Formats: sequence, C-alpha cells, structure tokens
Amino acid sequence: MNHIHDLIVIGSGPAGYTAAVYAARADLNPLVFEGAVTAGGALMNTTEVENFPGWPDGIMGPDLMANLRRQAERFGAALVPDDIVEVELDGPVKTVKDGSGATHRAHAVILATGSAYRKLELPREDELSGRGVSWCATCDGFFFRGHHIAVVGGGDSALEEAIFLTRFAASVTVIHRRGELRASKVMQQRALDDPKIAFAWHSEVAELHGDDRLAGVRLRDTRTGVEQQLAVSGLFIAIGHTPRSDLVSGLVDLDADGYVQVAHPTTQTSLEGVFACGDLVDRTYRQAITAAGTGCAAGLDAERYLAASR
Ligand code: FAD
Repeated sequence: MNHIHDLIVIGSGPAGYTAAVYAARADLNPLVFEGAVTAGGALMNTTEVENFPGWPDGIMGPDLMANLRRQAERFGAALVPDDIVEVELDGPVKTVKDGSGATHRAHAVILATGSAYRKLELPREDELSGRGVSWCATCDGFFFRGHHIAVVGGGDSALEEAIFLTRFAASVTVIHRRGELRASKVMQQRALDDPKIAFAWHSEVAELHGDDRLAGVRLRDTRTGVEQQLAVSGLFIAIGHTPRSDLVSGLVDLDADGYVQVAHPTTQTSLEGVFACGDLVDRTYRQAITAAGTGCAAGLDAERYLAASR
C-alpha cells in the first residue's frame, strides 16, 4: 500500500491495453486491472475481426486481444485479472480498491471500462454472438452479403444500422415492439422508403433458432401474443448501450447518458490526473481501432501530466 505507482489503468479492452503499451514504453510501469471475468473486453465475444488495420486476412477477436495483452506485458505493464470496485480520484494521489479488498495508489489513472451493448436477454444470445447475432453493423454487415437479416430496435441507431445493412443484405426486417418508431422523422422516412426494408411492428424476439449459426427467430406480437417464425441468418440488436461508468459516477463529469466527458481532443476528465478513453467516452464510433486510438491518447496524456507534475 505504501508504494505509489505512476499510473493505474482500469479496463483491458483495446483502449486499456493500448494505453498500457504507450505508458509502459514510456517507463511508467502501469498497473492494469483487467476485470475479473471479462479480461480482454468486448472482442472476446466475437469471432472474426476484419477491420482492425494491420490484419489483411482478419483475426479472431480473442487472438487480437491476446496479442495486445502480450504487447502491453512485453514492455512492463503489470496485469491484474481483477475488478476495481471503488475509487478515490481527487487530489494528487488516487486510490483504487480491487475485488480482494486490497488498495493501490497512483499519481494518475486511466479509465477504460468500455460500454455494454444492451442484450435481449434471450437463451443462446451469447452463444450465437458472432454466429449470426451481432451488435455492430459496421463490424459485421459485410458478412451478410445476399442474406435475409433483421434489426431489433426503433431508434435512430437501429434505423441507421438497417439502412447501412441494405448495402449487403437481400432484405432487412426491422423488428420493433411498438407501432411507431422513436427515430427522427428524416431517418424514419429514409427507412420507410427503402425497398429492401420491411417492418415487423408490435413484435419482439421470443426465441433464437439455429445450431452452429442463427437460422431464424420466433417473433411474438406484443399485443396479442401470437407468434410467427422469421427466417433470418443475421440479427442485429440495436437497443442501446450502457457505458460502464458506475464506478466513477458522481466523481467525474458524465453526460446525460452516463458517458465520461473529456476535454476533446484530449482524454482529460473533469479531475486532474484522471483520463478516460475507448467506448466509455465514445457514443459515436465504438470501434476497436477508435478505442485503441483514444487509449493511445490517454497513455500520452498521462505521461505528459506526470512529467509536468514532477
Ligand atoms: P471494452 O472492449 O468493452 O473493454 C473494457 C474492459 O474493461 C473489459 O475488459 C472489462 O472487463 C473491463 N472493466 C470494466 N469494468 C471494470 C472494472 N470495474 N475493473 C476492471 N476492469 C473493468 N469493433 C471493431 O472495430 N471491429 C469488429 O469486428 C467488432 N466486432 C464486435 C463484436 C462484438 C460482439 C462486440 C460486442 C463488439 C465489437 N466491436 C468491434 C466493438 C469493439 O469491440 C469495441 O468498440 C471495443 O472493444 C471497445 O474497446 P474498449 O477498450 O473501450 O472497451
């Protein structure tokens, strides 16, 4: 407990590991808390990643994260497979408590806890993730060329995903619980006018079918309970994201949806010596490469902060 580290990184997705690579190469010996059960972040739950630069043939998500982890370790990052459950972040020395109750201190902290995609909470949803079930049209749309697919949701992002997916898919059915959409009028009109987009109104997904891959879904009418099958090989779930900011809620400034606010283009939060990166701050792009990019920026910002405060 007496030792004060230069830097603690909380989170181990592309943002946290990249921050750790930069900090470790600047001789800051970062202490990285990777999370108890989800070390490696969101890409641990997917199969092929085809859009991370430098991998022309694609790479499996868990392999990409294992490489990033190894790269951080190689330069001296200390990796701890535990959660941080409590933090004190004001003042020049920050204190964090891990899942075992041990406390650790540092002069700077990088927050990289990511954001959770909201799930339908159906049996087999996790098992079929990356096997037809997806949360990211930008990431996976390309795999569905010529397929019949569906998007769940009725907001702007659901319709944006549906419209984007018409570039690849033979048809896109938007599954929505209500009889009218929440999306902006412009987006609604674009979707309603698109000949490739159909709507399943007053519908929710009751079951996912398929052995190794998604083969279809059972829809239930939210008013009558009547059920019907929809044969689709892809299901994009676009019902929102929840940034994992509970840990720092009330300590650093968050926006109305819980994203940590930073002084763009830096990663500086509202507290000195506390930086944030990745999907925890990003409601717009939410890609592995953008998370790695802001992770790099957080590593550099922390390094400069520490150099200036010595
Ligand atoms: P995350 O990857 O979410 O990592 C956050 C980490 O913080 C996790 O390891 C978590 O365990 C840890 N953590 C959280 N709370 C704590 C705590 N209290 N203490 C310690 N650790 C904590 N993007 C692409 O570019 N290409 C793709 O093909 C692609 N496919 C995807 C497929 C799926 C199924 C999903 C879900 C996402 C996909 N994405 C893809 C998006 C990409 O995974 C995310 O944008 C990226 O992982 C965000 O990185 P991050 O480091 O900000 O957060």
